[in-house]
Amino acid sequence: MNKPLLNVENLTKHYAVGTGFLKKSIPLVRAVEDVSFSVEKGETFCIVGESGCGKSTVARLLMGLVQPTAGHVLLNGTDIAGLRGDELRASRKSIQMVFQDPYSSLNPRLTAAKIITESVENFERLGRKQREALAGELLTKVGISPDAMHRLPSEFSGGQRQRLGIARALALNPSLIIADEAVSALDVSVQAQILNLLMDLQQETGIAFVFISHDLSVVEHIGHRVAVMYLGRIVELAPCEELFKTPVHPYSEALIAAAPLPDPTRVRSEVPVEGEVPSPINPPSGCAFHPRCPLAIERCRTSVPRLVRMTDGRFVACHVRAPAEEGFAGPTAADEHLQRAVP
Ligand code: SF4
Repeated sequence: MNKPLLNVENLTKHYAVGTGFLKKSIPLVRAVEDVSFSVEKGETFCIVGESGCGKSTVARLLMGLVQPTAGHVLLNGTDIAGLRGDELRASRKSIQMVFQDPYSSLNPRLTAAKIITESVENFERLGRKQREALAGELLTKVGISPDAMHRLPSEFSGGQRQRLGIARALALNPSLIIADEAVSALDVSVQAQILNLLMDLQQETGIAFVFISHDLSVVEHIGHRVAVMYLGRIVELAPCEELFKTPVHPYSEALIAAAPLPDPTRVRSEVPVEGEVPSPINPPSGCAFHPRCPLAIERCRTSVPRLVRMTDGRFVACHVRAPAEEGFAGPTAADEHLQRAVP
């Protein structure tokens, strides 16, 4: 089996809250706990979950914008989690980001051409003609006329600004783009155009996406595989089609049951889930979902369920729906097949 493009192993991020008084322990926000997955070339790997589940922290960790407390992020076999300075800058050539807000993520004083080519000019000097040729090529790729390259961001619509953000991300010819809520600020019709653009670019260039979203209909449309996160942990990881057809984890089931159905003839089970997401500063013991879970048993209150590989190849962390057999070695970072696409 070929090595995956991206291998995330046991990624963990804790933030200290305030300072300890008289050497008392400092409270921690457990934003990301022991997250492992891999992404293949040309794949769209989605991460979903409610606000505060840790999905955006995972995006920042993958980009090297924050340092992990533990774990590894291997891009083409190189651990980029600990890189700094020039090495981190060099790794950015392969991994780029598209942000949620297409306006605030663009410098309002720079022209479209400058915005798009800025990242390239961090590595090499471009003359005016080179810059305009590159900007024209990338604008065409994202469906904007090259004639618009001298305009400022304020002269574009919201959808066009997101296209500019995508053109900027493509400028260094990356192998992976992290898209963090990249369409959630756009109108539904514009969302569809941007999603189709991303899928076309993937077909054309073989680029991979880590697509982070709270919107399940978007994920169902664009994703190959999906990880469902709850309070910093992955609770289910499966091919998109299977997750939406037959979710196994009670939280995945509740999320999907609550999402609007694009097809009125489809029926989803109603799974009651009550209450709010608990605080990551003081998460519930055992399975963090147990205070909201209709299937919780005594063991759920005391023991954290491991992510277990099921016979159909998906991974689920649940004592009831995916009980780990005694002696079963759950997936570890050393498992070469860890949470990879089901062949
Ligand atoms: Fe519910 Fe228990 Fe499964 Fe957690 S481990 S999802 S509380 S049944």
